[in-house]
Amino acid sequence: MTEEDPGGKRGPAPDDPQADEPTTSPPVLVWCEVCGKEQMTSAEEAFNEGWDFAGPGGTYPAGVVAPRTCGGCTIDKTVWWRLTVERTPVTGLTERERGIIARILNEPAQRDETS
Ligand SMILES: [Zn+2]
Repeated sequence: MTEEDPGGKRGPAPDDPQADEPTTSPPVLVWCEVCGKEQMTSAEEAFNEGWDFAGPGGTYPAGVVAPRTCGGCTIDKTVWWRLTVERTPVTGLTERERGIIARILNEPAQRDETS
């Protein structure tokens, strides 16, 4: 039980431990095209969890067709694999796979809040 001084006004502490926390990487939305998992995380954490993702701090530059996978999925299930390794023409892709490409190409470098 702590009683705070009701009249005491707290000014902004210059060295607030929370404000001082180093936030080097901005939040990123990572997603897995194989299992459909999405996660709001930091680039650092995503990397540590084995995500393949694009954008700042990511494995690939944004807007380039590359694998988008979580730590539990393998790239041989990705559209990138279909195109690059299996050499499937875009016309041979399924509707779902084309949707994934569209999503990759439209992927903003920063997170998109309007979705
Ligand atoms: Zn996955």
